[in-house]
Amino acid sequence: MDSQIRSIHQQLVNKDITCTALVQEKLDLLAKNSHNTVNSLLIDTALKAAKKVDDKIANGEEIGLLEGIPFGIKDVYMVQGTVTTASSKLLKDYKSAYTATAIQKLLDAGAIPLVKENCDSFGHGSSSENTIFGAVKNAKNPELVGGGSSGGSAVNVALDYTVFSIGGDTGGSVRQPAGYNHVYGLKPTYGRISRYGLMAYASSTDCVGPIAKSVEDIRIVLNVMSGKDTKDQTTYASAEISEDSLASSDSIKTVGYFKNFIENDAIAPKVKADFLAAIEKIKAKGIEVKALDFFESNTLVSTYYTLAMAETASNLSRLDGTNYGNRIEAENLKETYAVTRSENFSEETKRRIVGGNQVLSQGFSDEIYLKGLALRDAISNNFEEDFKAVDVIISPVTPNTPPKIGDSLKDPLAMYLSDAYTVGFSLGQLPTLTVPQGTETGLQITAAKNNDELVLKFANFLKDTI
Ligand code: GLN
Repeated sequence: MDSQIRSIHQQLVNKDITCTALVQEKLDLLAKNSHNTVNSLLIDTALKAAKKVDDKIANGEEIGLLEGIPFGIKDVYMVQGTVTTASSKLLKDYKSAYTATAIQKLLDAGAIPLVKENCDSFGHGSSSENTIFGAVKNAKNPELVGGGSSGGSAVNVALDYTVFSIGGDTGGSVRQPAGYNHVYGLKPTYGRISRYGLMAYASSTDCVGPIAKSVEDIRIVLNVMSGKDTKDQTTYASAEISEDSLASSDSIKTVGYFKNFIENDAIAPKVKADFLAAIEKIKAKGIEVKALDFFESNTLVSTYYTLAMAETASNLSRLDGTNYGNRIEAENLKETYAVTRSENFSEETKRRIVGGNQVLSQGFSDEIYLKGLALRDAISNNFEEDFKAVDVIISPVTPNTPPKIGDSLKDPLAMYLSDAYTVGFSLGQLPTLTVPQGTETGLQITAAKNNDELVLKFANFLKDTI
C-alpha cells in the first residue's frame, strides 16, 4: 500500500538518508515557507531526536516504523516545554506544562515533532485567517485560504513539509482543510483518541485527527494514538486496525448519500456534478447506492453552532489572565478580567463567547440550549436508522471551493454555512474521513460509531475506483 511513512522508514533503515538530514531539510522548508503554516519550530529537540535515531541505526539497532518520522502539531496541543498559543494573542507566550496523551504516544513511538502549526484561534473558524500569525495560504493556490481551523497542518502535509500532522476536529477542522488542500484527514469516532492536552473548544465533539497523504499513513498514526486514557473519561478501548483488513471492501454493499446535501441551491454546480459522477462510478462496481433523507443544512449548522458556542464560552471562561494568558492589569480584579479578555481574544472568539453565554443564560437556556441538545439527539437517532440501511455514507466535504483570503472574514454567517456538510457528523460523534478525490474539495466517508475501520476500507477501495 502507498505509504510515505513506510517509504521513509525503508530509506532510513537502508541508510539511503540520515534522519538528521531529513529533519534538517524539513525544518528549512518550514522556516522559509511563505504559506504562514508555522507558529513555532522545535529545532533543538527535533535535531537531538534525529541524532538518536541515526546513532541507533549506525549501531545496527532496529527502529520502529514511526521512529524518526517528522510530523507537525496544530498549535492547540500541549507539548511540554513548547509555547502553545492556540494562535491567540492571549496565549502568545504560554508554555505547556505537560504533554497531550495523543502526542505523547507518538513521541513514545519515536516520531519527531518539528512544528507547532498555525490554525484559527482556539479552533474558531473555517479558513485559518482568525490567527495572530497571518492567514494560512492554500497549498494549491496561495490566493485562497488554507481552510480551517487546522489549516497550517493540512498545508504542511500537502507541501511535504511534514510527513503527517495532527489536527483537531470539532466541526470539520481536519476534514475541511484536508479537502481544500487535497490530502487525507480523519475525524475518528469521538472518544477513540484521548483529548487530554488538546485545548478544549467544544468538548462534546472535539476529536484528535491525523492528516496525511495516504490511507495507510492515517491507519498507522490512528492506531498509535488510539486507546483508553484515565485522564479522559470519554475514551474507550478500540481494536487495532490491521493493514490486511483494509485490503478488501467486500463487506461494503450499500452506500448512502443525503439527497438534500446535493439537491439544493447552496452547492456549486461543479461540486454537485462531480459528486454525482463519483456515485455512478461506485454503482458501476456493483455497490448499491441509496439516497437518504436528512436534516436541512441550516438546522445542522444552527444546532452545531448553538452547542459549540455554549461549550466554548464555558471552556474559555478559565482564560482570564489569572492562571493563564497575558494579563492586563486594570483598576480592580473585575476590570482586569474584562480588559484582559476583551483586548486579547479575537473578534470571532468574542462573538462566540457572547453567543454562547446568551445560549446558556437564565431565561434562554431552555429555549435555545436544551432545544439544541434535543436536536442533537434527533440527529444521532437519524444516523442510527441510516446505518441499519447502508454501510457507509458519502458526501462532499464542502458545498463550495475555497474562498479567497479575506472574503470569509467579511461574512461570518457565510463561513458558518460552509460547514454544512461536516458538522452533522460531528454532532453524531461518527468516524469521518476526507479523501482527496471525487470533488474539487474531496469526499467524506462516514460510518457508524466505532467503525473507523470501515471508513478506511472504503477509502482504500475508492482510491482505485474514482
Ligand atoms: N469551522 C467550525 C467552527 O468554527 C469547525 C471548527 C473546528 O472543527 N475546530 O466551529
